[in-house]
Amino acid sequence: MRIMTFLSKRISNLSESQTIKMAKLGRELAAKGVDVINLSFGEPDFYTPDHVKEAAKKAIDENFSYYTPVSGYPDLRKAITDKLQNENGLTYSIDQIVVSTGAKQSLANAVMCLVDPGDEVIVPTPYWVSYSEMIKLAEGKTVFINSTVEQNFKITANQLEEAITPKTKLFMFSSPCNPTGSVYSKQELADLITVFEKHPNVYIISDEIYEHINFVDQHASIASFGSIKERVILINGFSKSYAMTGWRVGYMAASKEIAAACDKMQGQITSGTSSIAQRAALAAYQADLSTVLSMREEFRKRRDLVYGLLKEIPNVKVNLPDGAFYFFPEVKHYFGKSFNGKIINNAEDLCLYLLNEANVSLVTGEAFGNENCIRISYAAAEDKLILAVKQISTALALLQ
Ligand code: PMP
Ligand code: GLU
Repeated sequence: MRIMTFLSKRISNLSESQTIKMAKLGRELAAKGVDVINLSFGEPDFYTPDHVKEAAKKAIDENFSYYTPVSGYPDLRKAITDKLQNENGLTYSIDQIVVSTGAKQSLANAVMCLVDPGDEVIVPTPYWVSYSEMIKLAEGKTVFINSTVEQNFKITANQLEEAITPKTKLFMFSSPCNPTGSVYSKQELADLITVFEKHPNVYIISDEIYEHINFVDQHASIASFGSIKERVILINGFSKSYAMTGWRVGYMAASKEIAAACDKMQGQITSGTSSIAQRAALAAYQADLSTVLSMREEFRKRRDLVYGLLKEIPNVKVNLPDGAFYFFPEVKHYFGKSFNGKIINNAEDLCLYLLNEANVSLVTGEAFGNENCIRISYAAAEDKLILAVKQISTALALLQ
């Protein structure tokens, strides 16, 4: 029976973000004095680089305290166009850039500005947790394309072709991917492009927030294919590459028409993001990539470490991710097993069991569209990672 509520259907039908929920449960347990290792939240454990912090302090002293232009300060947008040109070979003008309160808002802006009720949005699974909920808010219909650990969690051109219908409005994906760490190579993107070229009404949201956490190749952006660039909404930001999750700065690069629409949307909902955070973001893009690359090397070491440890756990199927800072192992072998009379029915039960028994906070794969997996964020110090995997392994071994 549906409980009567004064809240709108829109919010009543919306799922809570599982990444945020698990991080909250972890914090609650920690507040009770339990030593919880939090591997549920996707955020770098590093501090924001010093030159970025200095720029923010200076901005306060220089009274950057007024409302900012809705799409962001012109000099920050110029720095973003320079970055896209120099690092990605992509030419944009500043009126194609909209700076937002994190990449999350950039994604939401794009979905709200493109999707009408009933429009289909194709999302390869596993996908980042908020995509399906943003589509729901826009009253679109999500069409999933499944991919498995055996195919390194990447879809093929054939799968894409089969999913497109006359109602398809949008395709939405991340590479490097959260939650799998998979990275599409230039050739794999080229294969998808052959399909998009046949369907000129399909737009593409390319979430590139993990661009710099890529252990294989130079980052390949789908916007680098001239034939479809006008239809790409490129999303990026400062949270992951510059360890600036709390500062809340992200952006989109898109056609002028889409950028203007998102500026209008944002102008009615939040306005420009924080003045201080924007000055900090400008400093981040004005410096060289040395701090970004040193954090990437740390992530690579941790990935290799955790991969070696996870492979040793019986009945956990894991692939070697090429980017981001997540593992997405298949753990379905443990479903149906129990400990102390408590049965593990699914990945969510397993995450709760591992939180309480191993004191490690993780996220169920179901939140990312794959019920057989769990997500492990390895954005934590090596000693914590070693301890966490040991505790997970011990707890799994107790399941009969
Ligand atoms: N996209 C993906 C794939 C993410 O993992 C995240 C993490 N929060 C975001 C977007 C949003 O990032 P931001 O902190 O810039 O809002
Ligand atoms: N993107 C991060 C994650 O996937 C942060 C949490 C969130 O914004 O949902 O864990």
